[in-house]
Amino acid sequence: TRPLQNMRALVTGGSRGIGAAIVRRLARDGAQVALTYVHNAEQAAASVQAAQAFGGQALAIQADSADANAVVAAVEQTVATLGGIDILVNNAGVFHLAPAGEFPLAQFDQTVAVNLRAAFVATEAAVKHMRPGGRIIMIGSCNAERMPFAGGAVYAMSKAGLVGLVKGLARDLGPRGITVNNVQPGPIDTDMNPADSEFGGALREQILAVPRYGTADEVAGMVAYLASPEAGFVTGASLTIDGGFTA
Ligand code: NDP
Repeated sequence: TRPLQNMRALVTGGSRGIGAAIVRRLARDGAQVALTYVHNAEQAAASVQAAQAFGGQALAIQADSADANAVVAAVEQTVATLGGIDILVNNAGVFHLAPAGEFPLAQFDQTVAVNLRAAFVATEAAVKHMRPGGRIIMIGSCNAERMPFAGGAVYAMSKAGLVGLVKGLARDLGPRGITVNNVQPGPIDTDMNPADSEFGGALREQILAVPRYGTADEVAGMVAYLASPEAGFVTGASLTIDGGFTA
């Protein structure tokens, strides 16, 4: 039997990048998986197909994480379709860079709504349905701990918020057998942060101990561990997977 057999998961932002890798990995480990996306219906459908190839049920739900009602509706649709929810991965995120004094307020608001508020709202909705063994996993960032370039203050703030959120939620939910953790990736080769960019070259040379970008599959491996039954004593933690970015 597979480690996540009979478990039902929701991954926000599961159409591309890290989220899509998490969808595949959870499905490979035996879970049935719902994913959300906002714009890319085609890639969402491809992600669903990749998950179904492992033999389980999978579905895509269009839900803008900036809209709290849509986030709650996505959790409810997951529960209705898969018969419950055991694993919630709050992965959807946005990355806006702008210099101090010129950061557009609309981008600040979207960053907080998608990266932080949606994680809280989805968790509130999901824990109403979770049984002992439930798992809440945030995708934060190593930028919560180190922000070595200009323009990233708001992104770093949003990811730092997750560090505190998982600590408090772990206290609330530990007695119910539900763990809450935060995975903090370093540079991972995705549309958000392509390894072959100029920015990527500078990071590799000056900041990383392991001088390469990470892969979405490597992040998905850490998420799969946290989602598994053997991780029941890990909670309230922010686990970094960053090639030494923060070392
Ligand atoms: P991508 O930009 O490659 O993919 C983003 C995914 O999130 C897509 O599936 C996208 O859907 C979805 N998404 C974006 N905005 C919303 C929204 N408002 N509502 C619902 N879904 C949304 O990002 P990554 O895979 O690189 O990043 C995933 C997470 O990992 C983010 O939280 C990011 O901050 C974090 N992270 C990434 C790092 C990196 O180097 N790549 C490093 C550290 C953390 P659609 O396809 O419809 O647009």
